[in-house]
Amino acid sequence: MTTGRGTSPLAAEGPMEHHLVHRVGWLRAAVLGANDGIISVSSLVVGVAAAPGATRAAILLAGTASLVAGAMSMAAGEYVSVSSQSDTERADLAREQAELARAPEAETVELAAIYEGRGVAPALARQVAEQMMAHDALGAHKRDELGLSDDLAARPIQAAVSSALAFTSGAALPVTIAVLAPRGAVAIAVAIGALLLLAILGATGAKIGGAPLSRAVVRVVFWGAAALAVTSVIGRMIGAAD
Ligand SMILES: [Zn+2]
Repeated sequence: MTTGRGTSPLAAEGPMEHHLVHRVGWLRAAVLGANDGIISVSSLVVGVAAAPGATRAAILLAGTASLVAGAMSMAAGEYVSVSSQSDTERADLAREQAELARAPEAETVELAAIYEGRGVAPALARQVAEQMMAHDALGAHKRDELGLSDDLAARPIQAAVSSALAFTSGAALPVTIAVLAPRGAVAIAVAIGALLLLAILGATGAKIGGAPLSRAVVRVVFWGAAALAVTSVIGRMIGAAD
């Protein structure tokens, strides 16, 4: 999950809008994670179920294994990506702190130039920069030069856990259907359930982001159906081969 870093035009509009941006980013990541879980685990379950020889135990084993593997892989990927982002931020801050200690005048000029660039008159920009430097020099540079803010600070563990949970919540659907449906109907029931949930999530995601509803739904259902069709054909071919 990559969150916008202070560069979003909405982030500058006030605390309310800022909160909305934050929540939308979080929800979007959750919806994407759930989509991943539905598509990958459903298509795996459909692939195995399409093989005539596969028992229910084999279908459940495949579904559960892919749920766990997918959740772990999401967590690991997210942890690595957010950690490296947070390492970069820490390194940027350390460099900034060293520059502030070494060349405070140059840093004041730099800050004033940033405010001038945003439309503040030169003399006033200089004055603002001086007062900000006196109040909290590193904080001012962190916010206005690096574009980092505390509430957007990278949290690797939180990101890892939430994306693993999002994936699992999507993957739980095909596994549950595979437990409940009659053996002969597992493939078709999982496929229908997956496409329905994908459509609902696609509509939810579009509503949150203010995007056109039908286009988002058609897109996600198309890719879901394509994945299901491909694995079902493969399952049938390989399952029939032995
Ligand atoms: Zn600086």
